[in-house]
Amino acid sequence: MTTDSLPSTARSEALFARARAVTPGGVNSPVRAFRSVGGTPRFIREAHGAHLTDADGTRYLDYIGSWGPMILGHDHPAVREAVASALAGGTSFGAPGEREVQLAEAVTHITGVDRVRFVNSGTEATMSALRLARGFTGRKYILKFRGNYHGHADGLLVEAGSGLMTNAEGALGQAAPSSAGVPQEYAALTLVSEYNDPAALDALMAGRGREIAAVIFEPVVGNAGVLIPTPEFLAALHRVRDHGALLIADEVMTGFRLSLNGATGLLGLTPDLTCWGKIIGGGLPVGAYGGRADVMDFVSPQGPVYQAGTLSGNPLAMAAGLATLEVLEASPALYGRLEAYTTALADGLRSAAREAGVPLSVNHIGSMLTAFHQDAPDGSIRTYADAARSDTAAFARWFQAMLGQGIYWAPSQFESIFVSGAHTDHDLNATLDAARAAYAGRGGAA
Ligand SMILES: *Cc1c(COP(=O)(O)O)cnc(C)c1O
Repeated sequence: MTTDSLPSTARSEALFARARAVTPGGVNSPVRAFRSVGGTPRFIREAHGAHLTDADGTRYLDYIGSWGPMILGHDHPAVREAVASALAGGTSFGAPGEREVQLAEAVTHITGVDRVRFVNSGTEATMSALRLARGFTGRKYILKFRGNYHGHADGLLVEAGSGLMTNAEGALGQAAPSSAGVPQEYAALTLVSEYNDPAALDALMAGRGREIAAVIFEPVVGNAGVLIPTPEFLAALHRVRDHGALLIADEVMTGFRLSLNGATGLLGLTPDLTCWGKIIGGGLPVGAYGGRADVMDFVSPQGPVYQAGTLSGNPLAMAAGLATLEVLEASPALYGRLEAYTTALADGLRSAAREAGVPLSVNHIGSMLTAFHQDAPDGSIRTYADAARSDTAAFARWFQAMLGQGIYWAPSQFESIFVSGAHTDHDLNATLDAARAAYAGRGGAA
C-alpha cells in the first residue's frame, strides 16, 4: 500500500481540531492523543465485535479493547440487551438495587473474597483500598513497584509506568512524583521497589516493614508493557505479610482476563485486598475493591474508613458487568481460545520480525501481549528498566504501518494489547500479513 491509497483521516483531523479547542490536548485520557506515535488520533464512531469504525468510515481490527474491558468484543448481544433492559428502568437511583447485590454475589463467588465495594473506576478502587489499608493497620507508608500503574491518585503517581514512562533511573526506596501537582510530601509516603526483584523487596521490608500499611502491585504488569512475575518475586510478595503489611493485588487490568479469577487465580496468589476495574464493568464505568471480611468491614458505614460515590452501583453499569461475568462463567473454553490466539500472534510476530532482521522481544500471557522493539531474548524483559530499553521510534514506525493497513495496535510501546473473544483466525492471519509487510518496510508508513 502506498501513502496515496491510505484512507482519509479528514474527519478525525477536523474533530481533533475542535476537541483541542475545548479539551486539554483534545482527549480525555492522555494516551489517546497518539503523542508517542505521532499522527492523528482516530475519532471512533462505532465498535462491533473485534472492529472499530472511525469518523471517516475506515474500519480497523482492534487490539485495544477499550484498554481491557472488551474481553467479549464490542457490542456483545448479552451486554447490549442487559443494558437496554436496565435502561428501561431508569438510569440512577441513589439508593441500593438488586443488580448491585447480584454483581457482588458474582464477584465474591468467582474470586473468593468475602466482601466487595463498587466504585466508578480503577483509580477509585486502588485509592480506596489504600485508604482502607492505612485505616486498618494505622500505618502511613505504602510500597509500590517501578513502572506499575494504579490509576492517578496523588500518592500513586510515583514511578507510574506507561503514559508517564520515561527513561529516568531513580534510586529505590523514596522516589519523586511522576506528575506535576503531586506534592513531594505525598510522594514521600510512597516507597518504590523494583518489580521482579525479590531481594530488593525483602531488604526494603526488613528496614521499613513496620511502617508500611500495604504493598500494592500489578500481579502481571500491563502498564510498562507486559511483564510477567517470577515465582521468587511472588513468594517475596507473600512475605510482606510477616511485617503486618497488607498485600493488595491490583487486578484492574488482569481481573477476569487472565483467568475467570484473574492473575490471582492463574498464579495462585492470596492477597488481602484486590482491586478491579475494566472487565468488571463490561465497558461501562465500574471499579471495585474487596477482600477479607475483617478488613473490608473497616469501610463505612460498617467501619471508620470513609468512602462513598453518588453513581456507585449504577444500574446500567452493574447490568453490563453482570452480563459480562455471566458470559465468561458460561464459556469455560474462552480463556484457552484467547491464549491460543495470543500465542500464535506472538510466534507470528517473532518470525515476521526475524525474517526482516528487526529486533523484537515478545512477552505474552493469556490474552495480553507486548512486542518490545529491542534485541533481547524472548521472555527476558522482566523489569521497567528492561522495558525502557525499547526503540520507541521503531515501534512508532511499525504502529503507523499497521494502522495504515487497518490494524489498530495500542499507540504506545509500553502498553499491552488485548485479544477478545471476537477475534477470529481470519483476523490473526490478517494481522500477521500486515506485520510482515510492516517489518519489511511496506504498509503505508512514512
Ligand atoms: C487501568 C488501570 C488502573 C486505573 O483504572 P481507571 O479505570 O483508568 O481509573 C489501575 N490499575 C491498573 C493495573 C490498570 O491497568
